[in-house]
Amino acid sequence: MSPVSPTHRYDEAKHPRGSSGRFAVKQSAEAADVTLETATTPAPNLAMGPVETSEALWCEACEEAFTVDDAERLYECGTCGAVSTERRCEQCHKFMARSEEPGCPHCQEPVEATPVLVVVDHDGRTVRVEDYDADGPAKKVRDAAEKAKADERAASEAAARLAAKRANAAEGTAATVEPGVVLIDPDDTSRWASRDAEVLSVRHVETPEGPIVVMKTYSHGLRTVVRRADAKVPVAATVAEYPTEDRGPNGRRLNADDFGGARFNETFDPKMSAVSAPSNGIEVIVGSASRSGGTLPVVALMLGQRNHTGSIGGMVTYLGVFDDPEKAESALGEFERAADALAAARAEHPPAASDDEDEAWDVAHRVAGWDSVSTRRNEFVHTEAAASLDLQIGLSSWHRDKGALLHLSNSAQNAAMTDPDTLRRAVAEARRHLPTLTGIPTRPDVVDDKI
Ligand SMILES: [Zn+2]
Ligand SMILES: [Zn+2]
Repeated sequence: MSPVSPTHRYDEAKHPRGSSGRFAVKQSAEAADVTLETATTPAPNLAMGPVETSEALWCEACEEAFTVDDAERLYECGTCGAVSTERRCEQCHKFMARSEEPGCPHCQEPVEATPVLVVVDHDGRTVRVEDYDADGPAKKVRDAAEKAKADERAASEAAARLAAKRANAAEGTAATVEPGVVLIDPDDTSRWASRDAEVLSVRHVETPEGPIVVMKTYSHGLRTVVRRADAKVPVAATVAEYPTEDRGPNGRRLNADDFGGARFNETFDPKMSAVSAPSNGIEVIVGSASRSGGTLPVVALMLGQRNHTGSIGGMVTYLGVFDDPEKAESALGEFERAADALAAARAEHPPAASDDEDEAWDVAHRVAGWDSVSTRRNEFVHTEAAASLDLQIGLSSWHRDKGALLHLSNSAQNAAMTDPDTLRRAVAEARRHLPTLTGIPTRPDVVDDKI
């Protein structure tokens, strides 16, 4: 709690104290220069008679009552909406307006301005009147008993899940795993066993140390599991419910096509609504996937707005993060088809001349190569192959006079392009690097991991 300022000083005459009266909640006000002995005396046995209630402000998060005088004064930024005890917004550096809502002296968060009825509980704590039980015990004691019961229930349920899982475990080798198999961790008891993963695709790769198996799996996200072909892999003998059940479009199971691909929809959409401002640069990143990608060599295509320094910043869209040359070639082929169709659509729906001043300034100040394709080599590419992209050409309602555009989207990303040549050159550049996709982890220890 912040020190009580002179203007907020406790006023004895205005607020008579009492153990169950209006200022019972003063117990925590050590900072105020008043003596509060009466407030800390044990609560009377309330079960004996009618309960004395009082009004106080209440913080749900802290489960604490406090008086209007103890409330923190809060300020609200008119620009970004930030609420703080500071007079000036940390983000915007502007003075903020006084907030209508009082702040909790413990957590400084805004609370309801309307006081609630509180009562002193059997243990001396102040609780809301609806949480008070005249026959006892105190709310805190009841809460603790309830939690202990819930913990006990959770432990017995976890034990039952573990027993069921072990009874249903089968052990094969990585070489025999096929799409649709569910990999399990027989020691994981959590309800949503984070490691139970459905295999979406399997790729067999020969390495100098022997054959390995690269599995794309899905549990709560995509993960690449790499194992030696003869490694023992625990799997579910029978699957009651697949980890990807209801996760795909139209409530179907997910499959390998849902990730790391591209689908060009040839129909022209004359009424596209929410597309982002067109991106003008693509960076081809050549490196190794992170650990969750099996540390396999990858080629990634990152689309974004190239700024005046020539680098891509702000919001970026991953067109793909490929570790399988066949999968990459199939997606690059779709990008190429889309680029050709975009070029044709731009001829039919060319951009109209604009007299927008900002735009003219932007055009005049572009650095050389602002729309170029660049290549970067990274030790690690910290991104996982995203959901497959849907590609479609059309006109956007707000971008209509700038001609046809290519919309690139999936459940998480939404981008647009207007320059077919940038996309074509990026495809050509990515193809040059496909021979690096050997399927052999750059950190071989991942093949010895547990799943
Ligand atoms: Zn602000
Ligand atoms: Zn609080």
